[in-house]
Amino acid sequence: MDASEAAKVLIAGGGIAGLAVRRALALRNVSSLTLERRAAPEDGGLAINLPGNAVHALAQLGLAEALREVGTPVRRREYRTAGDRLLFSVDEAAFWGEELTPRCLRRADLLRLLGRDLPPDDLILGRAVAAIRPELGGVSLDLTDGGRLRGGLLVGADGVHSRVRRALFGEAAPQAALLAPASWRFMAPDPGVAAWTVWAGAGALFLLIPVDRGEVYGWASVAGATGRDFSSVRSAFAGFPRPVRATLDAVLAQPDAIHHSPLEEIRIPHWSAGRVVLAGDAAHATAPVWAQGAALALEDALVLADLLAGRADWSGIGAAYEARCRPRVAHVQAMTDRMSRSADLPGWARRLLLPMIGPRSYRATYGPLRDPVIP
Ligand SMILES: Cc1cc2nc3c(=O)[nH]c(=O)nc-3n(C[C@H](O)[C@H](O)[C@H](O)COP(=O)(O)OP(=O)(O)OC[C@H]3O[C@@H](n4cnc5c(N)ncnc54)[C@H](O)[C@@H]3O)c2cc1C
Repeated sequence: MDASEAAKVLIAGGGIAGLAVRRALALRNVSSLTLERRAAPEDGGLAINLPGNAVHALAQLGLAEALREVGTPVRRREYRTAGDRLLFSVDEAAFWGEELTPRCLRRADLLRLLGRDLPPDDLILGRAVAAIRPELGGVSLDLTDGGRLRGGLLVGADGVHSRVRRALFGEAAPQAALLAPASWRFMAPDPGVAAWTVWAGAGALFLLIPVDRGEVYGWASVAGATGRDFSSVRSAFAGFPRPVRATLDAVLAQPDAIHHSPLEEIRIPHWSAGRVVLAGDAAHATAPVWAQGAALALEDALVLADLLAGRADWSGIGAAYEARCRPRVAHVQAMTDRMSRSADLPGWARRLLLPMIGPRSYRATYGPLRDPVIP
């Protein structure tokens, strides 16, 4: 391995995590090369909700102003019953402050922002990592098209079904756990929702968030649903209020634009070995209860870049990286479990308890995340 190869970080995956690592490294003058197997993102047409710590991480990636040009601020959350009764609301703008007010934007816009002002030649689309070989002072990659690349470190940012993770820990090691075989995501004309609004009935959830250009982003789930077909669970929302039914009508009229989205998570004891580290969903995919997937991926990127830029020897980087990132991930996992348990309560108990435990859970979850991972 020559000196320029040894000083280069290879990144497998050009999703939010991979592109954030690429950007964070570029800002710290660390050379990298990102390989993304697709020519375009699969879910770029959908949107994503970014809580305040994600907004903070994007500001640290030099994107505070650019972020204000896309999507819509999420100033308020409302939790409602299937009958449209308001159980509780959260003033998110007051909680996070004006600078860090959460934002909902299109995924394609987020990916575009992450690449803003970077030279394009360190991102290669349409090439996939097939195998990894440790080498003295680094790692070499075999690509599916027969190519080979060398670098001083590999970041596996290749998502929940990470090939890098399997190569690192073996096929027998714990992989993604399926939490729910079905949920659905979509964009739709705004039926007149003023805030992030979730309606919860017996086992059925329907979330709508205003995005931009007159559209909302939606996510729906129905307990026990196993099939891919969204229309098969339509009856679960029959008693829901007009904005839900109007959105369902619009979405089911365009079935090709519906994304079937199983919920999976990764909880593994290590995210690194030798000269390979995992980032984003490859390391710690979490159910989207608190919308922390992107935030944690962005934070991984900031920490990795900080460590790599600060050291000439990258051999022990994995342990230091995990020590800094794991506590936040463990916190999000614990709070996700706690909120998921409340979803199992009978309807009457949820209606009674949520107005009390809901705002408290919001503060307990996001409060510690207001402290930035990199000061
Ligand atoms: C229903 C649902 C709703 C969600 N809502 C939110 C939300 O509102 N807010 C939020 O923050 N998070 C949300 N998340 C989580 C969020 O989408 C993820 O945490 C985030 O996309 C993870 O990004 P990533 O880059 O780690 O992985 P991915 O987005 O999966 O990207 C991995 C990339 O690696 C590429 N790749 C895979 N294998 C290879 C290979 N061998 N070689 C090269 N490239 C490869 C893939 O093509 C892909 O582009 C949600 C998740 C779900 C399922």
